[in-house]
Amino acid sequence: MILHPRTIRTRLTLWHAAVLTVIVFTFSAGIFFFVRVRLLEDLDAQLRRDLATIETTYREAPTELSEADSRAGIKLFEVTQGDQILYRTEAWGERGLSRAVRADATAATSWSSPEGASYRALASPYATLRISVAADETALHRTLWTLGIILALGIPCAMALAIAGGWFLAGRVLAPVGVMAERAKKITADSLGERLPVDNPADEFGRLATVFNETLARLQDSFERLRRFTADASHELRTPLTAMRSVGEVALHDSLEPAAYRDVIGSMLEEVERLTALVESLLTLTRVDSTRIQLAREVVDLGTLAANATEHVRVLAEEKEQTLSVQTNGAISVECDAALLRRGIVNLVDNAIKYTPRNGAIQVSVGVLASGEAAIEVKDNGPGIAPIHHERIFERFYRVDSARSRSAGGLGLGLAIARSTVEVNGGRIEVESDEGRGSVFRVVLPLHR
Ligand code: ADP
Repeated sequence: MILHPRTIRTRLTLWHAAVLTVIVFTFSAGIFFFVRVRLLEDLDAQLRRDLATIETTYREAPTELSEADSRAGIKLFEVTQGDQILYRTEAWGERGLSRAVRADATAATSWSSPEGASYRALASPYATLRISVAADETALHRTLWTLGIILALGIPCAMALAIAGGWFLAGRVLAPVGVMAERAKKITADSLGERLPVDNPADEFGRLATVFNETLARLQDSFERLRRFTADASHELRTPLTAMRSVGEVALHDSLEPAAYRDVIGSMLEEVERLTALVESLLTLTRVDSTRIQLAREVVDLGTLAANATEHVRVLAEEKEQTLSVQTNGAISVECDAALLRRGIVNLVDNAIKYTPRNGAIQVSVGVLASGEAAIEVKDNGPGIAPIHHERIFERFYRVDSARSRSAGGLGLGLAIARSTVEVNGGRIEVESDEGRGSVFRVVLPLHR
């Protein structure tokens, strides 16, 4: 069965408890074996000392062996020579400790008597004279047993503490997530201005909340722009419709001369033309915006494209007796959707003609920038644009001077379309201008090599 706890808090707690249990268990086992080895070593050292004492006593005064028993407190030993027992303590004989000494043993060994007592025994290695000593291991076993019980009881306690502590810590660490989820749940399309709380922007949750907040800000911005765009578009569509309606109503109300009716129809057609241009512009924008747009990418000569776009609106410049020149600088290839890009450039040249007074001069030039990018510049000596408007003129329906733009037939969408068409082609659009000093609009595109 695979346990799959639902909450991260539970999972963290279980992992924490499991890891801690393994650590405590390994540590306890280590302690137990280390203590056991140490105690046995101490006992063995004691046995070696006893053995040396008995040996010395035997060599110096064999008859005083019994004193080793009473004076030195060595209770369990025997001295044998071959099969003959030279000395044996009483306790040794009573407990049958001869069985504890292995004939071949060189180090101390443990032995359990059939009565249940256990001993540690050590014998001297001399072949003929053999001294054997033993010590009761019961105290050592008792100590180890007590230690074992302490550890065995300690492990469950440590586990319980690990679970409780882990649960508490995980709860504290994850608390901001709960707060964020609660706040995020309340954010709807109408409250995109709300943000998630960020306690510490440097930690993981802080970074998550910051990224989420940035996404919200972008969404809010998109929503806001969409809302403004819809409102502006409706307003722009309503103006010609209202004009047509009032012209029509007046014509219906009064009986007019045939020539006057022609005028009415003429002005209605003008409004229809304006509506058509507006709808077309909106469609272009939507098409460019849509990610589904399939760019017809081809390699074109930028000079030819600029000349072609300029020729398209030359008649408008001629009407205003403006000079409109195109200057190209050799073959400059770019890869783009030519029809879309041409539309953007037409808009820039059209604006230059529209806003530059009669007899003005407009120059379109194509070249390569120092940065190695291709550029088309549309330069006029018109009224220019104050720097505070530079960013906003590319927004949809933004006009510096509404009255002048409308009277010139502007829809407020020309530069928005120009920027979109340039950007989908991987380029950017820049403006250099100031009031009374003319304007330069520059389209920069990656060069095709
Ligand atoms: P419009 O339809 O009003 O021309 P655009 O988006 O093409 O809309 O331009 C936005 C505004 O930028 C215009 O209203 C105008 O005030 C300003 N503008 C654009 N091109 C020029 C230019 N060449 N010279 C001066 N002002 C310009």
